[in-house]
Amino acid sequence: MIIVSACLLGLNTTYNGEANVQTLLQKYCVRGKFIPVCPEQLGGLPTPRIPVEIINGTGQDVLAGRIAVQGEQGDIVTAQFIQGAKEVLKIVEMFRVSAAILKERSPSCGVNYIYDGSFSHRRMPGQGVTAALLKECNIPIYSEEDLNEELLKELIGDLGS
Ligand code: SF4
Repeated sequence: MIIVSACLLGLNTTYNGEANVQTLLQKYCVRGKFIPVCPEQLGGLPTPRIPVEIINGTGQDVLAGRIAVQGEQGDIVTAQFIQGAKEVLKIVEMFRVSAAILKERSPSCGVNYIYDGSFSHRRMPGQGVTAALLKECNIPIYSEEDLNEELLKELIGDLGS
């Protein structure tokens, strides 16, 4: 089984109550290999919710307790982000998940990049909180931006037509 950021599969889980549909993932969803997860919802945050960023650091820094996840006006949601990451890890263990396909640049799900905490859409290298925890636990993580049919074949086996 593979966990996939819920918003990529068309679920309206983003901070503004929308989705980030990725058509290739949606196309193969019927094969029954994907488990949609939204770590921010699993951490107890509502939808819609305020937009937040990791402030001057990465998901690894958040997990280590060095920095916060917060909104532009200072609302701190670090605890919910860490809780959401732990809930995703429970799902990984329950369903013997072999990999994760996650939404790039999200403070939870970003795989290669996240926003830098300036709320100006500037990105920096690094993982979101959930992506960082999965990586720490040796679960392979992939960005939807790096996804193609060949990679999906490798991840879930022969896809057929
Ligand atoms: Fe999508 Fe991840 Fe953000 Fe949830 S936390 S809306 S799954 S990018």
